[in-house]
Amino acid sequence: MTTTDRQHKDVSPTEKQSSRGLEQISGFLYTAEISAAQFSPKSCVGGFTKLTGYPVTSFLKSNFYNEVIVDRDDVEHLRAFRRASKSSGTARNFSYRINSRGGKKLVVNEQVVAIEMRGPVKLLGGIVTLSDGRGMISSEVTIRKEKLRFQEMEKLNKHLLEVNQLKDEFLANTSHELRTPLNSIIGFLTLITEGYYEGDDELRLFTRNALDSSYHLLNVINDLLDISKIESGRMQLQIEKVYVDEIMDEIYSLFKVQADQKNLKLECVTLETPLFAAADVRKLKQVLINLVGNAIKFTDKGGIVVSVEAAGQYLKYHVRDTGIGIPREKQDKLFQKFIQVDGTATRKYGGSGLGLVISKHLVEMMGGEIAMESDGAGLGTTVSFTVPKWTKEDI
Ligand code: ADP
Repeated sequence: MTTTDRQHKDVSPTEKQSSRGLEQISGFLYTAEISAAQFSPKSCVGGFTKLTGYPVTSFLKSNFYNEVIVDRDDVEHLRAFRRASKSSGTARNFSYRINSRGGKKLVVNEQVVAIEMRGPVKLLGGIVTLSDGRGMISSEVTIRKEKLRFQEMEKLNKHLLEVNQLKDEFLANTSHELRTPLNSIIGFLTLITEGYYEGDDELRLFTRNALDSSYHLLNVINDLLDISKIESGRMQLQIEKVYVDEIMDEIYSLFKVQADQKNLKLECVTLETPLFAAADVRKLKQVLINLVGNAIKFTDKGGIVVSVEAAGQYLKYHVRDTGIGIPREKQDKLFQKFIQVDGTATRKYGGSGLGLVISKHLVEMMGGEIAMESDGAGLGTTVSFTVPKWTKEDI
């Protein structure tokens, strides 16, 4: 019997014809007899050679397919699958790896059904490849896409962890910021109500301290409310013609006592006059109060100069101090929420870490820009910002 005859032994003439076309596909059909210990291939049609690189005759040699072509790690599973299929009566699927003659590893899917269940059981099996060239390419693309998605998720996760850490730091700092003045208010009011003071002067001092702490508490709460208003888009501005000199005078009177208490020189200068800004007067004052407040807070020696000048279509403000300065690597982060140079719970200076962020939002909402400059720790700080100049067209 010739090879071709043997190979088509159990196949009808019409099937023989169509099997020539089947040789072009990456898959084949087989019949085999199976007993408890033996798998005996009886016929094979289709593209066995195209798939494996071996001649069809090799499939018909008992055990050649299992022992040479099927990957060693999958042989036992494949045997168990075929044995289980002989009594099932329905088609079953199993995927495993094969090694083609050229050394290429492929993944195939085998579907098997028992067609003769008496005597030596006859199986009809179909094997198709799952990982041909195109499959590989598309799975590479999928893997690359998955990798990118994974990288994105990792980035997002890192960002969320950072935000979460900032939030924890903020909650710790904010509750500290709220509790400190509140404890001080409670403390002084308790001393007063229990009568633990000597004379009117001490009573006045205790009352003054409780009042100062109340204002401080109010400021922190206002900052928190402001930032939530800004972030939810509920902050409304009223842009109008603002006389710059007037504001400078107010800032000077507001901070003169504080500066004197720390022995600091405070100067507020308008370099040209008259200057008018197109701004929301209350917000412009709020920005200056934040910046000058910081300058005094972070300066122990020397002084603070607040100046304003015309710069094209804008007015440019500078708040310069001779204070503790800011390390270069921390400078670009300070306009982010809750960031402080010293963010630890034991830090020396109070504050919620919201003043600069609020100032940045307000300046930008008025159409200007804000920037911070320091030559480094101990070398003072300058915060500069712009607001649009009032022009005739604005009238
Ligand atoms: P707060 O002052 O309430 O902490 P800010 O947002 O106003 O919050 O400032 C954030 C941080 O920026 C401060 O905690 C401080 O570390 C730093 N900073 C701001 N202004 C100055 C300044 N003039 N000199 C030194 N550091 C400053």
